[in-house]
Amino acid sequence: MCKYYAGEVCNDVVRKCLQVFGGYGYCKDYPIERIYRDAKITEIFDGTAEIHKVIISKEMGVR
Ligand SMILES: Cc1cc2nc3c(=O)[nH]c(=O)nc-3n(C[C@H](O)[C@H](O)[C@H](O)COP(=O)(O)OP(=O)(O)OC[C@H]3O[C@@H](n4cnc5c(N)ncnc54)[C@H](O)[C@@H]3O)c2cc1C
Repeated sequence: MCKYYAGEVCNDVVRKCLQVFGGYGYCKDYPIERIYRDAKITEIFDGTAEIHKVIISKEMGVR
């Protein structure tokens, strides 16, 4: 639950930060571009967000 939630929050925050930079945020010249990509991996490795949701729902007895 913690890993799933932290990944979601991390990506929400970083996405908003990149938006502040506008087009520069998309360019490799600024660290936020790398941070954005690094944030995304938290929803993929060590169990994807979707798989975490499957595991959490099973644990909660939700079909
Ligand atoms: C940078 C990086 C480092 C990594 N390091 C490690 C490591 O150290 N050790 C290790 O063991 N692995 C590592 N991995 C592999 C990582 O764990 C897998 O990428 C991850 O488990 C997802 O598997 P997959 O890429 O085959 O995607 P897939 O399993 O093909 O999934 C593709 C998409 O389908 C979704 N999906 C799949 N099945 C379901 C389902 N039943 N219900 C709903 N949605 C589903 C997934 O959530 C995902 O969005 C690493 C990957 C990367 C990119």
